[in-house]
Amino acid sequence: LFARPWVFIRGVPAMKFLPPEGPPEVAFAGRSNVGKSSLINALVRQKGLARTSNTPGRTQELNYFVPDGFSGQAGDLPPLALVDMPGYGFAKAPKAQVKKWTELVFDYLRGRSTLKRVYVLIDARHGLKANDEDVLKLLDTAAVSYQIVLTKIDKIKTAGIDRLLRETDERIRKRPAAFPHIVATSSEKSIGMDELRQAIMDATQS
Ligand code: GDP
Repeated sequence: LFARPWVFIRGVPAMKFLPPEGPPEVAFAGRSNVGKSSLINALVRQKGLARTSNTPGRTQELNYFVPDGFSGQAGDLPPLALVDMPGYGFAKAPKAQVKKWTELVFDYLRGRSTLKRVYVLIDARHGLKANDEDVLKLLDTAAVSYQIVLTKIDKIKTAGIDRLLRETDERIRKRPAAFPHIVATSSEKSIGMDELRQAIMDATQS
């Protein structure tokens, strides 16, 4: 599935623009610049699919990606959709924008029955920040299963990765919706990609 070409099908600025529920979905969330676009591109081995968060217009939308070659009509639905959620944690984001982000994301998380899991990306250099914790709280409240992915692990030493895995595990262990296993990745060095692809398949087929 991940070896096929993938396509961008739509950007969703508000709930009413969501595609009809169909294929199982997994969504990706993370602070702006965490490496979300790079990770999605690495997963599907397609460099320009997800654009960086600097791309104007796409930043505040849920972006839908599916494998190419399915009409989307009944009986010909793609087996999986990847959803790139708008990045959060801009230092200077206006309050109104944060509010809009929270509303869209919360509505989506609570209302989407085909959403199987959210991958919460954490930059291995920075660890869990306060706004990441806010998002985990949102996910717990919405009772959506989520799994932590460390990004850019090529930037830190092995001992640092081990420590971060332990610390992050401590902090998510008691959370009701957290999936216990943390995946350590580097899009740049193609580390952890097969593990993440497998986790996505497991999450969507159960
Ligand atoms: P987004 O804002 O979360 O979509 O982040 P991007 O995917 O645009 O990446 C933000 C920056 O981090 C870019 O400069 C990327 O080149 C860099 N980056 C992303 N993934 C990795 C990685 O695995 N390793 C390293 N060293 N840099 C990365």
